[in-house]
Amino acid sequence: MITQEYLDHFRCPFDPKREAKLKLDGTKVLCERCQVQFRTREGFVSLVMEEATLPENCDHANQLPCQRRRQN
Ligand SMILES: [Zn+2]
Repeated sequence: MITQEYLDHFRCPFDPKREAKLKLDGTKVLCERCQVQFRTREGFVSLVMEEATLPENCDHANQLPCQRRRQN
């Protein structure tokens, strides 16, 4: 089972500065900032960007808030 304590060790892979934290939403693992959903497998979270599910209002990963920070 995935706990918030476990997720605190990781940061969103879409954030170049690695600041955005992951949060638990029921059984889902989401990025706190960009709301991308990461896959989980046998109690582990997959931070593979290709396996992540983008939020519904987002067509492409480069529109994510975490990615846009790159331009700052
Ligand atoms: Zn993010």
